[in-house]
Amino acid sequence: MTPDADFYGSDAWRRVRRAVMRRDGFTCCRCGADVRHTGCRLAHIKPRATHPELGLVMSNLRLLCWHCYSTTKRPADVATHAAPA
Ligand SMILES: [Zn+2]
Repeated sequence: MTPDADFYGSDAWRRVRRAVMRRDGFTCCRCGADVRHTGCRLAHIKPRATHPELGLVMSNLRLLCWHCYSTTKRPADVATHAAPA
């Protein structure tokens, strides 16, 4: 697996990150907060540790505000609670 620093510093990751933010309308998929004000993270639904091939797959990524990201222990929970797109 690509080390985190290399992965999250890559142009490919930055492109996917922007695309997911646009797709999700800059809105936290869990609480609906506007992440342009709260700050955001992207969560992998299936973790890179076990699914490295899904690291850059948009359908495996969810946009979260800082609060939801920091209170979500398991990214899989995000998919369970995500509002319909
Ligand atoms: Zn949130």
